[in-house]
Amino acid sequence: MIACCLSLRLKTCVNIRLICPGFRWRNEAFYYFCAMVKKHTVFLLLGSNIHPRVVYLHKATELINILIGDVIITSYLYESEPWGFEAPVAFLNQVVCVETVLEPVEILKKTQDIERQLGRTEKSNGTYASRTLDIDILFFDDEIINLPELTVPHAQMAHRRFTLMPLAETAPQKEHPVLKKTCLQLLAECADECEVWKLDEVKADAL
Ligand code: AMP
Repeated sequence: MIACCLSLRLKTCVNIRLICPGFRWRNEAFYYFCAMVKKHTVFLLLGSNIHPRVVYLHKATELINILIGDVIITSYLYESEPWGFEAPVAFLNQVVCVETVLEPVEILKKTQDIERQLGRTEKSNGTYASRTLDIDILFFDDEIINLPELTVPHAQMAHRRFTLMPLAETAPQKEHPVLKKTCLQLLAECADECEVWKLDEVKADAL
């Protein structure tokens, strides 16, 4: 709503400038406010290995649209072996790209809220376990974030084929701001031996 009003106000001011070239921006605070509500581009990885997996991913995308921002790209669905632990059901993964006005820690709170709403009961605390829904924040613009509760780009992404395959599909040329390599390069160099299968639309619809 705020972003919408601001965009309207910005367009109105630009129009006034076009009609009256002498018009000058006077209110610097307005500039800063516009900069503050700049939209960020965020890449999230969704994962589920408890049935109905595809329903959890669809509901997560709906909630991301409501609570975080516009989902502008969704990857194909990928099926992957559980990574780092044994489980009877394979993971279903998907990358979504979101435009948001939220800041990184707010996004983390929202993703954790969505995980809880979709039945996730507890965090992994360093050990891996089956889960209805997991959301990792992969990229936040080109920023590097090192907070106690949040590391972005996601610390494990370069070692996980199940992350890099959908990511390289949605943003092949995006450069990792720390490793200085594109997502495609990271995928080509990834030594992870866990298997990942891309599901075409027919297979995805049959889930
Ligand atoms: P999880 O794998 O969902 O159990 O997450 C474990 C913890 O990782 C969470 O409590 C987060 O605070 C932390 N974390 C650190 N960096 C990230 C990130 N980029 N995306 C999601 N969670 C993160």
